[in-house]
Amino acid sequence: MIDQEALLALKDEEDARFVAARPKTMALWERGKEVMPNGVPMSWLRGSYHHPPMFVDEAKGSHFRDVDGHDYADFNIADMSMFCGYAPEPLVRAVNERMEAGNQFLLPTEDSIWVAEELARRWKLPKWQFTLSASQANTEVIRVSRVATGRDKVLMFEGKYHGHFNEALVLPGDDGKLVPEEAGLPPDVTRTTVLVPWNDVDALERALASREIAVVLTEPAVSNNIVLLQPEPGFHDALRTLTRDTGTLLALDETHTLVAGPGGLVERWSLDPDFVVAGKSIAGGVPLGTYGMREEISELLEQEKSPEGERHDLVATGGTLFGNALQMAAARATLGEILTDDAYERTAALGLRLATGMRDAVSAAGLPWYIHHLYPRAGYTFASQPPRNASEADAVENELLRRVIRIWLANHGVWEAIVGAGPVVPVPGTQDDVETYVAAFGSLLERLA
Ligand code: PMP
Repeated sequence: MIDQEALLALKDEEDARFVAARPKTMALWERGKEVMPNGVPMSWLRGSYHHPPMFVDEAKGSHFRDVDGHDYADFNIADMSMFCGYAPEPLVRAVNERMEAGNQFLLPTEDSIWVAEELARRWKLPKWQFTLSASQANTEVIRVSRVATGRDKVLMFEGKYHGHFNEALVLPGDDGKLVPEEAGLPPDVTRTTVLVPWNDVDALERALASREIAVVLTEPAVSNNIVLLQPEPGFHDALRTLTRDTGTLLALDETHTLVAGPGGLVERWSLDPDFVVAGKSIAGGVPLGTYGMREEISELLEQEKSPEGERHDLVATGGTLFGNALQMAAARATLGEILTDDAYERTAALGLRLATGMRDAVSAAGLPWYIHHLYPRAGYTFASQPPRNASEADAVENELLRRVIRIWLANHGVWEAIVGAGPVVPVPGTQDDVETYVAAFGSLLERLA
């Protein structure tokens, strides 16, 4: 059992070390506060840290340097949006060339066809659309599903994250009834969302039996929960059978899990959804969200405005910068030259080495922690068994401990930006990076043991 008071003292010590070593960061933060809430361009991000925000100088490959000159092996790589690593040569070249030749026309370029063809090949869904983010792709998937089914509601799983749009921003309250997840949402935001526990086939069956659900939106493995939630054997089969039997569509959000393989977990696990959603690293960090769908669903997007200008049967989709030429050039370079089969095999092998090193460190320290491994990713639960669902994960959670792990790693040259996300090896990640992580993780566990 780890002593909470000692943990708190260690956190204070590490926080002080972090601040003392970063005078330029502190000065920038003060300046930022004059013009931006919380001193940063995305004020919400401050919720992720208890220490001052880091300001970045530059980055290459799997490392970045902060303005105070500290180098980090980056194991969060911008919540996986930079899985391709920083400034990969093919991406830099493609983006430069596209900028020089014009980057946005509100008209398609040939690259969009190449990218859609490649996505169709990888995810085995024939038709694709593009947005600026995965949040917007999920928003459109839900709207298309409503039109396809004539139903209103969307079912997600507890512990989910699918982006910042209304339907996805609800949580079970203390009495089990859904509540808005944050302030500023309309009070009826809970009306069209249903949440059930992950791996609970009975609850899923009951919810779908109402035939009010247009679409089930889920990650193939719930990677945004504080601890990864893996599907139990048979869960995906039950999900597919139950959705089909009740006329409900199934959307698998691979925004994070696309790091697992060329066609994400859908391909690795032979899943068969009606939609696939992707974003983040799919264009090497150039903003791009995308969704693929079955042929008959895509026909709903093919209506045209009538000569009288009536718009009532058009599905509510769109945005001025969606599908722009720069995104498409970036996605083509990323899919064609960076997210190759070889890159996936290498990152998965390093992910296994990472998980093994972490397991060894945990047993050397005599801690009863479970270490998971999912292709390039690893992570930890403060219990000997992996959780089945979000409630089980919450029951063994120790946020203070997670914060100590993060700040310790940052002070030892390892960046793991998001509490609980766990490390992921990016495409340019090296054996040395993995050893750096394992050594830093191990040195903390020795101290805690
Ligand atoms: N879906 C999943 C599974 C995600 O992990 C995220 C972001 N963490 C999103 C959607 C939203 O992506 P974005 O913030 O780029 O819209």
